[in-house]
This record gives sequence, C-alpha cells and structure tokens, in this order.
Amino acid sequence: MQKLIQGIHQFQQDSFRPLQGLFEELAKGQSPETLFITCSDSRIDPTLLTRAQPGDLFILRNAGNIVPAHGAGNGGEAATIEFAVAALGVKDIIICGHSHCGAMKGLLQPEQVASLPSRRGCHTPR
Ligand SMILES: [Zn+2]
Repeated sequence: MQKLIQGIHQFQQDSFRPLQGLFEELAKGQSPETLFITCSDSRIDPTLLTRAQPGDLFILRNAGNIVPAHGAGNGGEAATIEFAVAALGVKDIIICGHSHCGAMKGLLQPEQVASLPSRRGCHTPR
C-alpha cells in the first residue's frame, strides 16, 4: 500500500501540473471516442497500451473481459456499454483479451474455480 500512496504523491508533484489544463477541461465533462473493454488482470493497462490520455478511453473491466448476453444478468456491463454508446456517443469499441488469462482458464477448467461463488464468467455457456 505504501508504494501506491507514494505514487499518488508523486503524481500530484510531477504529473498533475503538465496535465492541469486537460484535467480542468475534463472536470466540465467527458467525451471519449472509444469504449475499451478488457480484463481486470493487473498486467493489462489500457492507457499505457494505447498511449491514451485522461478522457480518451471509457473503460469497462471485469475478470475475463466478459460481456454477458443481452438479458443474461443485471451486471454493470450492459449499463456501461449503453451509457458509452447512447450517452457519450463513443465511435469505437475495443475488446482486448490477453494471454494467460485466469478467467479464461477457469472457463475452460471450471473444476478449478468451483469454490468461487461468484464465478459467473466461468460458467459453461448454455
Ligand atoms: Zn484475464
């Protein structure tokens, strides 16, 4: 945790000022052009990967970057996509998977995640 707190302080001291004008504009509202859907995996960093700036990407993340079928659940995925497309008017949607995904391994080997009660992404499709 100390590393993260130090990172926040470093951001405030070094990174905020050069982007202060951008943050002031973003405080008025956002208009990202892209919805980026990806896994929650800590090794994936959409902004680093795309060299995006704050305000460029509207990001939806969950384990396995899984978007349930329409009507399959009350998760936040549908609401996030609906907001991005209908309210923000994003032009592009990127779905970014990755190698060595634990959620995908769970999907392929459900017995390994049987003890996880919220393994919805790992259920075998009907
Ligand atoms: Zn993953």
